[in-house]
Amino acid sequence: MGCQHLDELYELYILGALQDEESLQIREHLERNCPTCLDRLREAAQTVYFLILLARPARFDMKRKGRLLQQLRGK
Ligand SMILES: [Zn+2]
Repeated sequence: MGCQHLDELYELYILGALQDEESLQIREHLERNCPTCLDRLREAAQTVYFLILLARPARFDMKRKGRLLQQLRGK
């Protein structure tokens, strides 16, 4: 069975952003040790890692700021 349909899901899979059904599909497929997908997963992990690295300062500060504001408003 081809697994090209999974190809664009790996970044999202790593981010935990997939629907349960999709992420289950990927997990089951990876358990069969498909070499294509294991490679693809490694690639996606790198991509996500760099994206997070690049995005982190801004995103984290935003989040922290939001939480801080909530606390200040007496939540
Ligand atoms: Zn595969």
